[in-house]
Amino acid sequence: MRYCPNCGEKLERGQLYCNNCGTMLNETHPKHSRRNRNQNAGKVWIIITVVLVALISVAIAIYFLLMFLKNPFSSASDSTNHYNSHSNKVNVLSTSFSENFMNQENTGGYKGFELGMSPEEIKHKFGNEDGTVELGIGKVHKYGNMGVYYGSGNTVSSVYVLPDNVTVDEFKKVHGEQLNRQRIR
Ligand SMILES: [Zn+2]
Repeated sequence: MRYCPNCGEKLERGQLYCNNCGTMLNETHPKHSRRNRNQNAGKVWIIITVVLVALISVAIAIYFLLMFLKNPFSSASDSTNHYNSHSNKVNVLSTSFSENFMNQENTGGYKGFELGMSPEEIKHKFGNEDGTVELGIGKVHKYGNMGVYYGSGNTVSSVYVLPDNVTVDEFKKVHGEQLNRQRIR
């Protein structure tokens, strides 16, 4: 049972004005509270959405941070595994290598290995060789990923990129059947 807030008269349900004093009655109050509840529910959903978006953003940020951290780490372990005293490591599987080296004529030399250099010059510039590999042309002297072949006159007549940590199949997969083109003419 409701009573008029002004005069205390008993009120019937749905009454808009007090029959006794004419005060306008707050009949819409229950509707208001329902609307407030709806508004609160809306606010809750906005908060949940904002929190979700924030969480997803943080997750994406962490993902890219990890990707960023992963590259220096992997290249660091790569260098400790494969890097040698000669600073001529070439990633023969990279597309830049393919474009810069495999798909262009390289007539002078590569990575400081110039045609016509003597074994003494090579040793002075790059230190001791890392051994030799037997290619079709003959004995090729290895300096890291690079190899030189001394032709007539005992000077460098061919410069090779030797994918020592890459199988020939992998090499061909990237560069096609152009293995002979790694020889610099
Ligand atoms: Zn009243």
